[in-house]
Amino acid sequence: LIEAFTNLVNRIRGLSYIDEATLKEVLREIQRILLRADVSADVVLSITKTIEERFRQEKPPQGITSKEFLLYLLYQELVKALGGEEAPNVNVSKRPYKLMLIGVEGSGKTTSAAKLARFYIKRNLRVGLIETDTYRPGAYHQLKQLAERVNALFYGEENSKDPIAILRHGLEYMQRNRVDLIIIDTAGRHRNEEELLKEAKAIYDEAKPDEVMLVIDATVGRQAAAQTEAFMKYVPIHSVFLTKMDSTAKAGGALTSVIRSGARIKFIGVGEDIDEIEVFDANKYVSRLLGMGDLEALIEKIRAIEEESKIMEEIEEGKINLLTIKKQIDSIMKLGPLSKILELLPTSMLPMQYRAVMLDEEKMSNAQEMLRRWRHILDSMTKEELLNPDIINASRIRRIAKGAGVTPKDVKELLNYYQLMKRMVNQIKKSRRRLGRLVGE
Ligand code: GDP
Ligand code: MG
Repeated sequence: LIEAFTNLVNRIRGLSYIDEATLKEVLREIQRILLRADVSADVVLSITKTIEERFRQEKPPQGITSKEFLLYLLYQELVKALGGEEAPNVNVSKRPYKLMLIGVEGSGKTTSAAKLARFYIKRNLRVGLIETDTYRPGAYHQLKQLAERVNALFYGEENSKDPIAILRHGLEYMQRNRVDLIIIDTAGRHRNEEELLKEAKAIYDEAKPDEVMLVIDATVGRQAAAQTEAFMKYVPIHSVFLTKMDSTAKAGGALTSVIRSGARIKFIGVGEDIDEIEVFDANKYVSRLLGMGDLEALIEKIRAIEEESKIMEEIEEGKINLLTIKKQIDSIMKLGPLSKILELLPTSMLPMQYRAVMLDEEKMSNAQEMLRRWRHILDSMTKEELLNPDIINASRIRRIAKGAGVTPKDVKELLNYYQLMKRMVNQIKKSRRRLGRLVGE
């Protein structure tokens, strides 16, 4: 999947421009790739349809080519399909919270159970681990040892063959000990698949867990879909723990299983050690899936441009203070070399004297230096000063300069810039109003 996507991305990159025919072709190629990865047809269609619609309707931000924009839309829609840009909610919503892990043998359930315990113990929760795998020899000792290492409570019965009885005793034990989070580890193999799934169902019915987390080995690729489907017939799946992300380049199967089950990936395992757990980040995952390191730079750029235009909107609404300037400097710095911002910044918003500086290549690095200095200055101001710059008097200027390691003159220079901006904004607003009266608004 990664390879297919990488090829596609390179093809889009190689296109000289995107017309109707190439757009259709690219969309068909995206569909082919996703279908080959066993993503269901309706999901594929909805992803490509959204990309197409957005590509036709939305204008690429200033400074972004339509090729780059198409890549960005592909990226964004895949991220959305994986749960969105926002980090998954990993809070434990009630006490005790029962979390049941399911998955085939070797997917990493037991290891992940310990990782989760560690993760939540670090967040000051009392965590208990219950081992219900009576099938795999050594499962009991494996989890018991891990529990000791992470300081979690443990319950298991070494010689029992009755997972439901173990579970019942385990739950009682955890509740007696006022555990906040109870993690139930289950078997991953049985005499046959049917028995395994039935056992998972029986454990589910008995435990009534608040969350069922499917553990998937990222290296299995498209098999993930079949595994997911099999479990889904017996128990609901609320979330996914994707393991072995450290050792695979083909993490694509996860995309499929997640889209299929409608569950969100919450965590990923990035190594064998119990500390090697991360909260899932869809942005990072899709960048990797699309195999483009420099896509990240593009996305950063688009985000910065969006941020920039938001700030501009604020400024135009007249909400200007030093915090606005601070945000503006941050987004400019994110955009990289100052020479680039000329293309991106509505230069009309900049006072003549600074525009002149920016147009002069030689003075460019000086300007960069100036921005950095201003950033330090803004950092040594209080929130109150940022929001209400009028209170900054001579003694405050001296204090700020000292804090930023600059001269009071530098601080005044920044304040002058701010005053200029403010005056300009007011002028713009006034002329808008005049214009509005002229056209009879
Ligand atoms: P279970 O059968 O589902 O309980 O799987 P185990 O927890 O016993 O793990 C199976 C194997 O996968 C063990 O060798 C683990 O060390 C390994 N493993 C689990 N998670 C990860 C991971 O995130 N990265 C790597 N590299 N190995 C892992
Ligand atoms: Mg196990």
